[in-house]
Amino acid sequence: MGNEVDNEISKTFRVSPECIHQFNQIYGNTIRPKIKERFLSHLIATIEDLINDKKMKEIINTIRNPNAETEKTIQLFQSKNLRLYSILLMPVNIKRRATTRYHDNGATIYYNSIFEAKQIRILIAHELGHIINKEFIGMKDNENTANLFAFIVMKDKNDFYSNECKNFVFRSDLTILHEIENMCPLVNE
Ligand SMILES: [Zn+2]
Repeated sequence: MGNEVDNEISKTFRVSPECIHQFNQIYGNTIRPKIKERFLSHLIATIEDLINDKKMKEIINTIRNPNAETEKTIQLFQSKNLRLYSILLMPVNIKRRATTRYHDNGATIYYNSIFEAKQIRILIAHELGHIINKEFIGMKDNENTANLFAFIVMKDKNDFYSNECKNFVFRSDLTILHEIENMCPLVNE
């Protein structure tokens, strides 16, 4: 152990080499592989939020004469922690490329995990297009507009990876360390 960056991390953050190793393990072996399965995660979370808000408003609107009891329910529904709708991704071995099943509190997108990540993102963007059709567009669900939505999403992602990504790159590992030190200064406990 003990390359230059690790030594600097030890010194700056006041953590032991064992601690650095432990965190590298948990991130690299447990968290990171799971991140890779969460295709289009920002987009999915955003669509969930929008549908969530819509369903909350629908429920609140059914309460005609608010009283003290229903006021509590309304507050509960307005809290952003309560989820009424979630979208799950499930890699499966299916004949079809991908499909979406709807249930009372959300949708599950099943996709065939045989494809490459780049292709899986397209499949999922298309399935999200079906959810958008169902929840936001007042027309019959269909394959063409699901594809249209997939195009709009993938074009935006493409622009992001081509142009905006470089704004998030640090020059080196040590630059990251100093930037963290700068943004989250240690306080003496
Ligand atoms: Zn479709």
